[in-house]
Amino acid sequence: MTESRDKKILDGTEGLAVYLRYLDETAPDLFLAKDLRDERISVPGDPGPEGKGEKLLEDRELALGTVREAASACTLCSLSATRTHVVFGEGNPQAALMFVGEGPGADEDATGRPFVGRAGELLTKMIAAMGYARTDVYIANVVKCRPPGNRVPEDHERHSCLPYLKQQISLVSPRAIVLLGQTAAASLLGSGGGISRLRGKETRIAGLPGIRVMPTYHPAYLLRNPSAKADVWEDLKQVMAWLGKERP
Ligand code: SF4
Repeated sequence: MTESRDKKILDGTEGLAVYLRYLDETAPDLFLAKDLRDERISVPGDPGPEGKGEKLLEDRELALGTVREAASACTLCSLSATRTHVVFGEGNPQAALMFVGEGPGADEDATGRPFVGRAGELLTKMIAAMGYARTDVYIANVVKCRPPGNRVPEDHERHSCLPYLKQQISLVSPRAIVLLGQTAAASLLGSGGGISRLRGKETRIAGLPGIRVMPTYHPAYLLRNPSAKADVWEDLKQVMAWLGKERP
């Protein structure tokens, strides 16, 4: 990419969205903001480099705000035509733990916030059972706009949207990520395996060897299949052990 093209596409938020996609296509394993990732701070028992915490938090909030702004104006896929709100994600920009779901549903589309419907209530309970508040963790989805009728996002929609999620992961730089459901697992692990086969086993995302990843069932699946809650709890207990978190 030439310098003049660099400048042109970085003009405006739409330009940033295109730029993120360009980076994803040309270097799919490259997660950005390495400078921030290398200086991860503020996780339990790991206060980070002395004197750098406040500045890094500011940097992360600023960077996440820029990516959020790009997503809020995004028209890279057809889901932009039917959305009410872009649901970017929310939570602690320095979270040790991140949850990634599939995409917004009706409640999320109406409010602009992730996981606020019935499945969201269950996720909040799962987070509490782990000893965290929602504000302690970071929550995002693979696609930021609601697929009509809550259908599974199509491949081109996931592909268009993934650069935003990769930026979120890179900037938050969590110690652990819980992938909620098949779409999140397939999108970030590139695995065609079903979630029932993937769940419960620690894995990694290409390009991010330092983040421990646990695929598990989506809360919406648990609402339909309550007996699977025991499996999810086993998965979450593994994540708690990674983070040195005692059961509350
Ligand atoms: S789903 Fe993602 S890529 Fe598609 S319009 Fe929304 S923000 Fe853009």
